[in-house]
Amino acid sequence: MSTLVSKNPATGKPIQEIATTPVNELPHLFARAKVAQQKWATVSVKNRSAILLQIRETLLNHVDDLTDLISQENGKPRFEAMFNELFPSVDLLTFYAKNSERILRDKKIPMTLLKHRASYINYWPVGVVAIISPWNYPFLLPFGEIIMALAAGNAIIFKPSEATPLIGLKIQDLCYKAGLPKDLLITVVGDGALGAAMVQEKPAKVFFTGSVATGKKIMSAAAQHLIPVNLELGGKDAMIVLPDADLDYATSAALWGGFSNSGQVCASVERILVHESIAPQFIETLKGKLAQLRQGPSTGFDNDLGAITFEKQKLVYQGQISQAKNQGAKFIAGGEFSECRTFLKPTIVSGSNIEELDIYNEETFGPVVAVSTYKTINEAVEKTNKSQYGLLASVIGNDLALAESVARQLEVGTVTINEVVYTAGLAETPWGGIKNSGIGRTHSEAGLLEFVHVRHIHKPRAKIFSFKSLWWFPYTPFQYAAFRKLFDLYRRSWIDKLRAFPHFLWNVVQQIKTEKRL
Ligand code: NAD
Repeated sequence: MSTLVSKNPATGKPIQEIATTPVNELPHLFARAKVAQQKWATVSVKNRSAILLQIRETLLNHVDDLTDLISQENGKPRFEAMFNELFPSVDLLTFYAKNSERILRDKKIPMTLLKHRASYINYWPVGVVAIISPWNYPFLLPFGEIIMALAAGNAIIFKPSEATPLIGLKIQDLCYKAGLPKDLLITVVGDGALGAAMVQEKPAKVFFTGSVATGKKIMSAAAQHLIPVNLELGGKDAMIVLPDADLDYATSAALWGGFSNSGQVCASVERILVHESIAPQFIETLKGKLAQLRQGPSTGFDNDLGAITFEKQKLVYQGQISQAKNQGAKFIAGGEFSECRTFLKPTIVSGSNIEELDIYNEETFGPVVAVSTYKTINEAVEKTNKSQYGLLASVIGNDLALAESVARQLEVGTVTINEVVYTAGLAETPWGGIKNSGIGRTHSEAGLLEFVHVRHIHKPRAKIFSFKSLWWFPYTPFQYAAFRKLFDLYRRSWIDKLRAFPHFLWNVVQQIKTEKRL
């Protein structure tokens, strides 16, 4: 039996050894999930929402032990585990329990021309979905998608990251405790190879959150079976600090935006573009505040920055920092690992060539911010948009109208004004990126609709309208003349429209009188 060992990244100590899921079990697991899903699809959205509320109740009974587990296996401070992972999860449960029925209700489509017929959209579950997740928000990210998938009537095969399998299994436990039928959520344990094998099982859709490189592999594998994908990928999110920004506010926003979760956030502030007139003061103030952050193991309640969760990410930091050092970038703070390499010291890097370096252009996904300057608003917008990523950007300034006009020029999925990062966890608002940051949306109405097929139903308004359509066979001169006149009904002038109508009608009547529809 093959196993993997869950470890506490702050101490390196093993927490538990867990059996991995053999790849050859997947067909059986998908088949079980399919049977459960077909039954679940017949349950009303109202009753599905009732289960979400049960899950919420169970979660509320376990906030403290979940906080401990997340903090232990991921290495983040307890406050972050509790408030940044569990609180938004409760909010997501509440939002989808309250709103899924409304969002998934049939939607009428007003018909412009064919008034005798009616159309509406009917949403139906896609089936068994694969949810493949990363380690940085190991509870919140998969949990949100699991909730949406369930509300929409799907079953889920879920693979947590190999770095945080216990948290993944705990999500499953929580749902089972709340009474969710077991085969609706099946958690599998393993690394990327297992994830790749899940795609080969042809799930109805793949919901992937992770790196750009893996996202591309998944999309390419899914394309072989034309499986739709939702990809929530990386970012190199910019914060634009406008010249009128309050320095104390802007630096506090940069501090939390860049260093919460030790910067292991897809929505983390990784690039700061400060107006040149305030750059020196901004950097000094940020440096002063950074020096006050406490970094250490997450066992107590008194550290601000936890451990780096996944060993492989340290190689990215090492590569980017070495390149920046070799190229003469200016390290204002940090730039080194702690002695035991558990922590990367919070880092601010700048310098005249910063914009040419990987540390400014490639995702770091760690406690590092790269600071550069700009002269004009256009330059700030251009520099923000000149990125392979398009996930989130933030604009900090006193003139809200100016900040909003900047926001409307940024090529990203979300712009926050005088705020950072946190909308990624909001239930009501959509989250997702463009360019290399991904495809599709999660959370909000848009996120829920990612989990359903759209079925358009078109019908006569009443039985008397079930007559043969005029465009059916046989084709005749009257039919041609009638439909030729239809074009004129699209003219701007009402006089032209009114003139065309009697001709249209006359030809229709002749057609009906002389020809029998086949
Ligand atoms: P990763 O791509 O290495 O792994 C993510 C998941 O994919 C893991 O469960 C892994 O086992 C699995 N996997 C690996 N190879 C696979 C393959 N070939 N086929 C199928 N599954 C495979 O990413 P990571 O290091 O776990 O996470 C960090 C990345 O996630 C960062 O780039 C970060 O920006 C991104 N992220 C994005 C969002 C977002 O909302 N956009 C949120 C969190 C994290």
